[in-house]
This record gives sequence, structure tokens and C-alpha cells, in this order.
Amino acid sequence: MSTYDVTVIGSGPGGYVAAIRCAQLGLKTAIIEKYNTLGGTCLNVGCIPSKALLDSSHHYHDAVNHFEKHGIETTGVKVNFKQMIDRKAEVVAQTSGGINFLMEKNKITVYQGFGSFKDATHINIASDGKTETIESKHTIIATGSKPSSLPFIKIDKKRVITSTEALSLTEIPKHMIVIGGGVIGLELGQVYNRLGSQVSVIEYMPKIIPTMDSMLSKELQKSLKKQGIKFFTGHKVTAVNTDGNEVVITADDKKGNPVEFKGDYCLVSVGRKPYTDKLGLENVGVKVSERGQIETNEHLQTNISNIYAIGDVIKGAMLAHKAEEEGSMVAEIIAGQKPHIDYNLIPGVVYTWPEVAAVGKTEEQLKEEGVNYKVGSFPMRALGRARASMDIDGQVKVLAHADTDEILGMHMIGARAADMIAEAVIAMEFRASSEDVARSSHAHPTYTEAIKEACLAVAGRAIHS
Ligand code: FAD
Ligand code: NAD
Repeated sequence: MSTYDVTVIGSGPGGYVAAIRCAQLGLKTAIIEKYNTLGGTCLNVGCIPSKALLDSSHHYHDAVNHFEKHGIETTGVKVNFKQMIDRKAEVVAQTSGGINFLMEKNKITVYQGFGSFKDATHINIASDGKTETIESKHTIIATGSKPSSLPFIKIDKKRVITSTEALSLTEIPKHMIVIGGGVIGLELGQVYNRLGSQVSVIEYMPKIIPTMDSMLSKELQKSLKKQGIKFFTGHKVTAVNTDGNEVVITADDKKGNPVEFKGDYCLVSVGRKPYTDKLGLENVGVKVSERGQIETNEHLQTNISNIYAIGDVIKGAMLAHKAEEEGSMVAEIIAGQKPHIDYNLIPGVVYTWPEVAAVGKTEEQLKEEGVNYKVGSFPMRALGRARASMDIDGQVKVLAHADTDEILGMHMIGARAADMIAEAVIAMEFRASSEDVARSSHAHPTYTEAIKEACLAVAGRAIHS
């Protein structure tokens, strides 16, 4: 029987990073993946394919709507949707292939098969009707998540779909009705809106991206509405029915009156749920919460001391970079080190255009916690860089402690906010004050000048607004 110091179940960004870090630390490591491609949700049906389609559709949108203004005349620009989907598949294949390379480079044994616990130190791997058992001193559960739905919705994967199907459609929908105005609904809603679909977003809460700072919800909804997406916030979906190629959705509006939506596709994007099906947790007694999340302590250790869990399958933000940080951390803990993650500083990003990015506390949270804070904000339209590229929507908002000036949160919407948020994370990791950032030179002309200006604005001394 093969024996390992560490076995990782699941090869998503949590699992494969954990495996690489274990191998770097000299631990004999194996990874088990049920699919025949590595990389999990993120690489195969999540982060990477969605960004590939966002980029392709953005190019098309620019060609149709902005090129002329830039002095570029085009005729006959049209979408080859099959090519767009094929390119996305190529990007996914390249990226997943890269993980195979990294496994080989780090001498990690890859098992393709379904992993389940036989007991706390033995794992069965089922593949092609055969089962092999391996022995492992430690196991890291990184089995990720699956799309969740509403109890009355039947996901038929043809007309009533999840993000997985929306990333591989064979036609551009005429009218896509999106249930859930969160990250997936807005990113994929924007893809299809740019490609010519009518897109209607039905959101239960009074605002879209409801957990983010209200400024971001408001600004993003304004921008996306301008681009043609229709929003129905405060609407409670009560039924989803299909009739041939038509999907009929009924919902109660803000006043409780029933309204009907008819489209050819319905994307259900109301969140994701942890995935632990047939993992054999009952064979070892690993505790799972009411929400299906594997319970861990602050060392990401389950109630069984040699079994750890990371990523989407445990509590916290369902984000690839959160899973990656946890993957590294758990490997280092197993190797006897004492790493730490500041969960307050895991950034959240929505890759729409304008992009939305945030880190730290929202204004609503600071109010609720009774923290005395100051606000500085700066509009993108006041930046020379933004006018040069015609990306003038959005703003940066900085929240700093009223007494110490320490930055407590940064919330931005605008071009390249997804990349700019790294500056905020680093500043906050080093517990910078808004004055520290305001006094740091930012290259001109760049979008990052909005961060400097927003920090200057905390002290009421922005230069360009
Ligand atoms: P996963 O990536 O879900 O990987 C788990 C792996 O475990 C899977 O490959 C699964 O097959 C395997 N597995 C499960 N059970 C077993 C078993 N018993 N035996 C063997 N293998 C098993 N996050 C971001 O940060 N940025 C983004 O831009 C982003 N975009 C997204 C877009 C979409 C459409 C979706 C759906 C998600 C997106 N996410 C994004 C979220 C991100 O994909 C997840 O947070 C991330 O993949 C979680 O990583 P993980 O390693 O915990 O699990
Ligand atoms: P989400 O939690 O971001 O959004 C779900 C939305 O659905 C929320 O706004 C919620 O209020 C709404 N909702 C819930 N029940 C509803 C109902 N009955 N009717 C109408 N609306 C309802 O979830 P998601 O968009 O499905 O994404 C799942 C996970 O994947 C998220 O945790 C997210 O972090 C991750 N993800 C991240 C990225 C990124 O980082 N850019 C991109 C895609 C997905």
C-alpha cells in the first residue's frame, strides 16, 4: 500500500496549492481528483473560463460601442460565438495543463479517482470500477463547492441553468433571466448583455452585491443599467417553469404583487454549497455544520486531529485566493510552522466592467460596530487616465479611523479596480494610515492615482476634485 505524509482530496486552488506547499516543505504528498482535469471549479468552470468570456465579450462591446469614438472604423463586426467558447476552452485546457506540470515538478503523486475516507488514516480511491487504498498521516479536505438552488427550482441544465452551463452555451440567449444579483449573476449577465441578449436580474435583497459596501452596489447598478441590464431588486422568486424553449418565472415584487418574466434561459446564481457527498466523513466522525460546511478550528483542523479542511468546503468567503491562502497555511501548520491569515484582508472582486473591488470593513459594518471613522472618496472621471481610455465611471472610497487614521476599508469601482485593490491590501497588511498612502508617489497617469487622491480626501485635501 502506498503511504504519504499528506494526502489532499480535491485539486482546486485550495487543494493544489496545499499540495505544492506540502511538497516544498519536504512532505511526501498525494492529491486525489475525481475529474480527469486538475484545477477544480476555479480553473475548469469558474474563475478562468468566466474571465475568458468577460474579456472576449468586452472586446466585442468595445469594437461596437467605443472604437468609432477612438477613430477606428470597423464594418461587419460580428460575434462568432462558437469560436469564443472554443477559445475559452483552450484557455482552460492550458491552465489546467499547467497544474499537471506543477504536480510533476513538485513530485506530487496524482490519483485520478473519487476519494473517500475508510478511516482516519486510510483513503479509498475509486476509479473505473476499481478501488485502491492509500495510507496517509495527514489528510487535507479541499473538495470545494457546487451551485446551490432554490427548493422549487428544477435545474434542467438546458433552459434552467447554473454557471457551469452558462459558460458553455451553444447559442446566445435572446432573453436571459438571472436569479441572484451576486457575483456570478452580474459577471455572466454582463457577458451575455454585451453579446446581445436581453438580461434581467432578479435579486431578493433590496440591492445587488448585497454584502458589499452600498456605494459599490449603487454605482455598479447604475453602470450596468446604462449598459442595458434590467434590475428587479427586492423581488422574491416563487416559481420557475419551462414550456418548451420558454422559461416562465414568477416573483413577488417589492409590494408583494406577483410579476411574471419570460425568457429562453434562466441562470440560477443564488450561491454555492459545500461539497462533501460520499466523502465518507461518517466513517471518521468529521463534524459538519448545519450549512454543510466542514467545521475547523483556527488551525483549519477538524475535530479529527490529523484531518484538515480548506477552501469552499469550510466557512468564509468562497474565493479562490482565500482557498489558496488556506492551502499554504495548512501545509505550513502540518510542517510545524505558525502561519496566520487575516481574513479581514481577503479582497473581494467583481470582474464586471467597471470592475468592483473591496477589502476591509464596509461603511455599514463600521457604523454597526460603532467605530469612529473618516471617509475620503475620489471620482474616476476626475482622472486624466480615465478620460484617456473613456472609462470614467466609478470612484474610490477610503475609510480610515477618525483618531489613528489607520485605513479600515477600501472600496473601489472603475477600470482595473481588480488589480488596484492589491495596493489597498498591502497598505492594510502593514497597517498604513491614509496619510501614508497619500504621501506615496503614484505614477501619472494611472488609475491608481484615484487611491492616492481618495486618501488625500480623507484629510480634505484632494488635489484634483
Ligand atoms: P474547488 O475549486 O471547488 O475544487 C474542489 C475539487 O475537489 C474539484 O475539482 C472536485 O472535483 C474535487 N473533489 C470533490 N470531491 C472529491 C472527492 N471525493 N474525490 C476527489 N475529488 C473530489 N473565485 C475567485 O476568487 N475569483 C473569481 O474570479 C471567481 N470566479 C468564479 C466564477 C464562477 C462561475 C464560479 C462558479 C466560481 C468562481 N470563483 C471565483 C470561486 C472559486 O472558483 C472557488 O472559491 C474556488 O474554486 C474554491 O476552491 P477549492 O479548492 O476550495 O474548491
Ligand atoms: P452570491 O452569494 O455572490 O450571490 C447570490 C445572490 O443571490 C445574492 O445577491 C443573494 O441575495 C441572491 N439570492 C439568494 N436567494 C435568492 C432568491 N431566492 N431570489 C433572488 N435572489 C436570491 O453567489 P453566486 O453569485 O452564486 O456565487 C457563488 C460564489 O462563487 C460566491 O460566494 C462568490 O464568492 C464565488 N464567485 C466569486 C467570483 C469572484 O470572485 N469574482 C465570481 C463568481 C463566483
